[in-house]
Amino acid sequence: MNSNETLQRLSWTASCPLCGQPNQCAIALGKSAESCWCMTTPMSLLALALMPEQERGQRCICPACAQGINPASHP
Ligand SMILES: [Zn+2]
Repeated sequence: MNSNETLQRLSWTASCPLCGQPNQCAIALGKSAESCWCMTTPMSLLALALMPEQERGQRCICPACAQGINPASHP
């Protein structure tokens, strides 16, 4: 019985590592990668630089952070 674990894992992959908001990633939502917003939105180099190295390829960032709007950097 690890449904709780699965749920936690799902919300982890579905949240932005930079701001903690839902990343709206199509893959995390069980949809095809081609339907993800990241296919049409250019990634900010700043956002990529802020991404923790161990989380690259594990989690997606959210559309706001991808555009360089990082709420965490504006306390
Ligand atoms: Zn974000």
